[in-house]
Amino acid sequence: MLSSNKDLKIYNSLTSTKDIFSPINENLVGMYVCGPTVYNTVHLGNIRTFISFDLIFRYLKHLGYNVRYVRNITDVGHLEDDSDEDKISKRAKTEKIEPMEVVQKYTNEFHSILDLFNVLKPSIEPTASGHIIEQIEMIQEIIDKGYAYESNGSVYFDTNTFSKDFKYSKLSNRDLDNVINESRDLAGSNEKRNLQDFALWKKAEHKHIMKWKSPWSLGFPGWHLECSAMSRKYLGNKFDIHGGGLDLKFPHHDCEIAQNECLSNEVSANFWLHTNMLTLNGKKMSKSTGNSVLASEIFDGNNNIFSKSFSPMTLKFFMYQAHYRNTIDLSNEALLASEKTFEKIVQLKKDLDNLETSDTSNISSQDWVDNCYKSINDDFNSPKLIANFFDLIKIINEIKSGKKKIDKENKDLLINYFSVFSTDILGLSFESEKNDNQNQILDILIELRDKERENKNYIISDFIRDKLNSLGINIEDNK
Ligand code: AMP
Ligand code: ZN
Repeated sequence: MLSSNKDLKIYNSLTSTKDIFSPINENLVGMYVCGPTVYNTVHLGNIRTFISFDLIFRYLKHLGYNVRYVRNITDVGHLEDDSDEDKISKRAKTEKIEPMEVVQKYTNEFHSILDLFNVLKPSIEPTASGHIIEQIEMIQEIIDKGYAYESNGSVYFDTNTFSKDFKYSKLSNRDLDNVINESRDLAGSNEKRNLQDFALWKKAEHKHIMKWKSPWSLGFPGWHLECSAMSRKYLGNKFDIHGGGLDLKFPHHDCEIAQNECLSNEVSANFWLHTNMLTLNGKKMSKSTGNSVLASEIFDGNNNIFSKSFSPMTLKFFMYQAHYRNTIDLSNEALLASEKTFEKIVQLKKDLDNLETSDTSNISSQDWVDNCYKSINDDFNSPKLIANFFDLIKIINEIKSGKKKIDKENKDLLINYFSVFSTDILGLSFESEKNDNQNQILDILIELRDKERENKNYIISDFIRDKLNSLGINIEDNK
């Protein structure tokens, strides 16, 4: 393990401070991130959150930790705002397919989109519908402890009783009166003891299609419960990191904390991380308000917002140019600028590979490497890390112009760590560079064929032409 891991500091929403990260079990890190509700195609805002946690996952692995990364799939229990209708069920009715077909379709799509962004797969990807038994068991435990009650076949978390023994809303620091005023969750309000109580189990109405047997009714679990039950099952009562988008802080994460804390007497995760929102026209990207754009619409240029198409790596690079705790606004100008900047990084990689070495060096590559670690150790600060890449461009230019010298050892260190930070940690891929290599190989083949023709060696020249033809590359000979 690298010594630099000791310096990793992470901003913790629970304490509102940047704290040194040290895992509960040496070398092991447990991380839970709230995954998507798979009732439609994820938009770029959702993707930003998963790309941010990909960087965190990659860096923790780079530091040598054995990371168990659990990212769930919400396929039941997430209700439409202001209504009792499950998002998946509603979609199944509109598309006239089975709810589980909706789930499969959008889960597959979610995976393919993240693959395009070179996002690593989590260690476990549990579904809410696959953990109904665990959720029913957990509800029973909460009832037995006196923190939940049954009412007309539904079960609600008793926030008043909880507040007598623990602090409710630890993350967003709302007091209960505020919660009542803000609460849009009026569903079941005549069944609740207090308006701010939230559902652990809902009795299903007759028309509801996704329902399971339980001791209380034929029904379905509340949305907040799945993450409590699945994190507990796969990471235990106490684990290292819990993450999600900032919009999940309240009520989702505050409710999750309450559900676990009333059983184990402790907050489930040590560090709570929240990614800030991707905005479009200055407003949060969101499917429900229509203020959203899909990754595919940017890749194929089929949209009314952007003047041209952009690649997944340009988009990913654009997202990394902001720190994950800051908002970032998507616009044509911003993507055009990111594309140009990313091209400079691609060029940097080539220049670095081709850099001429001397016997002596007046450059210490280790300083540059240390600065990169300093940046990323500062709460995974990707824009600072990218700024170091531009420092490297300056260093390379000084070597090229003869102002500075570099020996092979220092050059190899730069090549190695540039690859570590850009490819392993940021997960950028340099596909376009590969394409350039392929073009160069093609040029060599064509030049070789021309030489063979000049020498009237037609057997070889025709062989090359026919082979290229079979790959769809047609060569026409003219004077
Ligand atoms: P959902 O499928 O709505 O549960 O969202 C999946 C994840 O995307 C959650 O962690 C949300 O907080 C996150 N998310 C939703 N909208 C945005 C946005 N505009 N920018 C960044 N993250 C978002
Ligand atoms: Zn969750």
